[in-house]
Amino acid sequence: MPNPKRRHSKSRKRWRRAHDALPTPGLRKCSRCGQPAFPHAVCANCGFYRGVEVVPKEEE
Ligand SMILES: [Zn+2]
Repeated sequence: MPNPKRRHSKSRKRWRRAHDALPTPGLRKCSRCGQPAFPHAVCANCGFYRGVEVVPKEEE
């Protein structure tokens, strides 16, 4: 069986994987507060998702 003669160094492995990261999902504006928020996720600023669903927000 053909096999690699030498294992690649940590540096070479990391060098190759430098571009393997997944792209970040695009930001969209929260429909309630207008802050940038991730799509398909509860807004981190106001705790709203699709206008109605509420996550209790710590206030005062
Ligand atoms: Zn919001």
